[in-house]
Formats: sequence, structure tokens, C-alpha cells
Amino acid sequence: MLATMQDVPLLISRILTHGSRVHGSSRVTTWTGDPEPHRRTYAEIGDRAAQLAHALRDELGVTGDDRVATLMWNNAEHVEAYFAIPSMGAVLHTLNLRLPAEQLVWIVNHAADKVILVNGSLIPMLAPLLPKLPTVEHVVVTGPGDRAPLADAGPRVHEYEDLIAGRPTHYDWPELDERQAAAMCYTSGTTGDPKGVVYSHRSIYLHSMQVNMTESMGLTDEDTSLVVVPQFHVNAWGLPHATFMTGVNMLMPDRFLQPAPLAEMIEHERPSHAAAVPTIWQGLLGELTARPRDVSFLGQVTIGGAACPPSLMAAFDRLGMRVRHAWGMTETSPLGTVARPPAHAIGTDEEFAYRLTQGRFPASVEGRLTGPGGEHLPWDGESAGELEVRGPWIAGAYYNGPDAEPLRPADKFSADGWLKTGDVGTISPDGFLTLTDRAKDVIKSGGEWISSVELENALMSHPDVAEAAVVAVPDEKWGERPLATVVLRPGATADFETLRTFLAEEGRIAKWQLPERWTVIESVPKTSVGKFDKKVLRRQYADGRLD
Ligand code: ADP
Repeated sequence: MLATMQDVPLLISRILTHGSRVHGSSRVTTWTGDPEPHRRTYAEIGDRAAQLAHALRDELGVTGDDRVATLMWNNAEHVEAYFAIPSMGAVLHTLNLRLPAEQLVWIVNHAADKVILVNGSLIPMLAPLLPKLPTVEHVVVTGPGDRAPLADAGPRVHEYEDLIAGRPTHYDWPELDERQAAAMCYTSGTTGDPKGVVYSHRSIYLHSMQVNMTESMGLTDEDTSLVVVPQFHVNAWGLPHATFMTGVNMLMPDRFLQPAPLAEMIEHERPSHAAAVPTIWQGLLGELTARPRDVSFLGQVTIGGAACPPSLMAAFDRLGMRVRHAWGMTETSPLGTVARPPAHAIGTDEEFAYRLTQGRFPASVEGRLTGPGGEHLPWDGESAGELEVRGPWIAGAYYNGPDAEPLRPADKFSADGWLKTGDVGTISPDGFLTLTDRAKDVIKSGGEWISSVELENALMSHPDVAEAAVVAVPDEKWGERPLATVVLRPGATADFETLRTFLAEEGRIAKWQLPERWTVIESVPKTSVGKFDKKVLRRQYADGRLD
């Protein structure tokens, strides 16, 4: 028997129409480096998104599921692109501006992008690539930056503001199939070529609703969210879409992502929420330690993308900023789990430990652990296996061109269609996921596993250590052993023996897991989305030698 309910497709255009009408006075504030930031209301964004869609269709000939790429920082124009492009039926392709040039070229060609919207400050990056991008017909520039490098660009170059000026502020958004592609994002390609994940209108809509639930971020129009996580990194974790549903104000840092301007915008705009990877917050913590200021209004800080070090969570607690830890990946839209402690633990000694886990799955995401032999492991908090997930906003395949069969590599998808995350961990009987490591980062020492994350967290809890990354190096006797690379704080005096003793104290780390190899480095190399890049360290110390 079929249900008797209306079958209304879940479309991005509905989120846009709702946000710009019902929450028309909510604002996107973009940091410009000027004394006053730039402000635009949701109503204005709705109007301008319609104008952009008219321009893309009537002036630049965007039709069907043409890909329109963005090479942009987080700002109001990028939000307009987020809504205009999918709402008109085209596909938004966010380009990671920190990728090496050859990967960007590969990705644009693979997606066959027709138009690229670019921030003026990123022209020096884009201009030399254009001769290698045959599918790109138009480049649209917005914001400050010298246009000169585009003078003899092959594709036609347009100014964003000129392009949209005077066009109608209403667009008859088409009634699309909700399963149609809305946006795409390539994973950074740690092994092999980058892989394209294509989100549907439906997956983004449902994901946005989950982001808004109290058990996730639970924000309202009383909140302002500082969206540090880039819009090219898994749709800024879904925040622009989620905020348009509920009227949460957005504070966008544009290109000002260094600790000092971040602290300044926090002080100036007093956001109640912020989201970014741990390395950003480590930097901010350094800034707030050097130049203390009141940040206690920042009631919720979502940290994800890499494990949150306990020392960082504790330090933020002391400053009155409450960290909420979350796990996800490009393939999971990204919201996979959120660590909100169960009611019985709040106010008890257990609360901090619960907050440090990766958290619980929301109702729409199922998780399971798979052992080396393919067996599914119990949720007993002890059996460790690879995490597999499925759900309506979890990728079931990778993009392989418009007419090709999607890719389902066996190392990424199980035979029954679950996503293999490559993350190893346990799940407690009450459903809390604890990741011990990425499968490829685990150190396999004499048949036992050592968690690189556990060693890093223990090291970073020493006051002299600013950052620490631990990688496996080959060892004749044990197969692999941990190598600790450490960044010391300015003026720090700790030597390796002190740090080794510290790790062994209070049962922080089991004796057999203590690293014998140590080195001090200037800074830990970072990936294109700001996480520790252990590939680089592994390559550097591939033969286990430290000289
Ligand atoms: P990349 O692989 O380039 O880092 P993603 O952003 O998709 O791209 O990364 C997803 C991965 O990041 C996850 O598979 C996991 O290993 C790691 N990750 C994300 N959030 C957390 C977290 N809270 N704790 C530990 N690891 C995390």
C-alpha cells in the first residue's frame, strides 16, 4: 500500500527560498580586513543568487547539469554560488585552493567544468592553469585582486558584479528530481587519483536537517556561526545549507585564516559557534595564550576532520569555549558522528571521556565494525575493526564521468554497498565510536598495533609541545616502530628523555609502545585541508634514519 502523503522533492532551491524569505534579515558577514566587515542579508543573498542564475544561463550558456566550479574563500559571493548553481539544475564544483596545481588541473578536467568563479586574490593561482583547462569557457572574477594575469586568458573573463547587475531578482527554480547531482567535491587523493563525490539535492537537504538537530549543532537565528572550515572542504561541513534552514548568521573569514585575524574577528563579532579542524584551533590557542581576551561567548566549537587532542579540549574548556567533537569525511557529507555525552554522564567524571570520543551516529547513519577476516565485530568497546557506514548522505560510489559507470573500488565499498572508511576503532555498547587511528597510520609493531593518535595526544598534553606527529618507520626486529616528530613551543626546554619519561608516567602510554626514535621539527607538514600530513613524514623517514 502506498502512503497518501505529498511527494515534494527535497531541493536546494527550497532551502534558498525559505532562508531568504523567512530569515531574510539574518546575515552573512564577510571579514575584509577593513575596520568594518562586509554584511549582506539572507534576503539580499536570495536576490543575488537569482541574478547569478540568470547570468549563468542567459549570458554564459549554462544548461542541464553543466559543472560550475568555484575557486573561492568563504564569503558571501561563495554562498550565493552555493545556492544559485544547484537551484538552477547545474552542479556546483568546489575546488580546493590548496591543492598542488597538477591535481587542480586533473580535477577540473575530470569534472569538465564549464565555468570557474574565482576570487580576485586567487587569480595568480588560476591564470597559469587556464591553458591546460580546455573545457573551461568562462571565468568570473569577484572581490579584490589584480586582474592583469587574466589579460590573455583563453576563456572569456567576466566581472561578477557586472555580470549580475540589473538582472531579475526572481528565478523560476526548476522542479528537479531530488536525486539529481547538486554539488561535487573531490577527496584529496592520498593514494591514486582524486576521487569525486557527488552530492544530491536530497542528500544535502537531509544532511542539513541533521546538522540542525540539537544532538548535532542545534543552532538557531540567535546564533552566529564562524565558518572557518573552508567551503571547498565538504561544503563547509554543510553549514551554509543548514544555516539557511534556520536563519543562523554566518561569519565568513575570507582569506584571513591566520590566528591573529581569527582572534580579532571573534572579538569583534562575538560568534556563538565556530567550526574548524584541530590545527586551526591549536593556532588560535597559541594566539589567545600570547594575547589573552574574553572569548567565553563562543559557547560551541565544533572540531572534526582529525582527532581532537584532549589537551586542546581542556584548554578550550578553561577559556569557556565548549568543544563538540565530530567525525566525518568527504564521502559522508560529512556528518557521521557527534560526541554529545549521554544525559547520565553530564556533570560526572565520565563526561570528559565521552566528549573525547568521536561520538554517536545520528538516526540516519548506520555504522558497523569489520574485522580483518570480514567478520562484523560486537559493540563492546573493545573489539577494534574498520568502521563501515551507510545512510542517505553517505557516498555509494565515486564519479567517473557523466556517461561512465560510477566507480566502486573494493577497498572503499563492501560487497553489500557500505562505505569502508579506512578508520579503525571501537564502538561502546551505548553507541559511542572511538577511533584509534586511520588504518594506514597505525604502527604495526611485532604483531601488535600502536595508535599514532594516542601517542600524539599524550605528547601534546606536555606543556612544552606545540605539535606532535607520530609515524611508523621500518624496524628490523619489530617490523615497524613509532617515530615521534615534535614541534616545541618557543623557549621550551624539554628534551627527548623528559618527554619519554612524561609519556611513561601515570600510565599514559604502555612501556612497549614508547618511541625510541625522536626528532624535533619546525612544523608538522599539513594537508590541503590543514590536517597533519603524515604521508610527507613517512616519505621523509622511509628508511628510519633521522639525519
Ligand atoms: P582527507 O582524507 O583528505 O583528510 P577528509 O576530510 O574526507 O579528507 O578526511 C576524512 C578523514 O578524516 C576520516 O576518514 C578520518 O580519518 C579523519 N577524521 C575526521 N574527523 C575525525 C575525528 N573527529 N577524529 C579522528 N579522525 C577524524
